[in-house]
Amino acid sequence: MGKNTRYRIDKSHLMFGESKRIVDPAWRKSFKDRTCTASPNGIDLCGLPAVGAHMNDEGYSGTGQKVSDDEIWPLCADCHREQTENPGTSFWYHKVLKPQARRDYKSWKARNS
Ligand SMILES: [Zn+2]
Repeated sequence: MGKNTRYRIDKSHLMFGESKRIVDPAWRKSFKDRTCTASPNGIDLCGLPAVGAHMNDEGYSGTGQKVSDDEIWPLCADCHREQTENPGTSFWYHKVLKPQARRDYKSWKARNS
């Protein structure tokens, strides 16, 4: 036992399932009751009626491989088009994740100042 052993996490018991492509039309359909959570301006929610948009990225383009139905995000037609025309992680990072982080900060700041 080395002196750093106690910081090590034993991952041998964790269940990392093999990722399997899910096909679930009912789940896809359920997205039509949602609103778009992308942000065209980088901070505000888009908020238009959404469809289920597969979160495709560079890895899927041209391989004929379809994105699994458990990797769907609510996007409106306009945001979905933008994402489809720019496949890659950049859309998700700049139009979904970063705006959410900014909104979280704004909301926290409003409650804590
Ligand atoms: Zn949108």
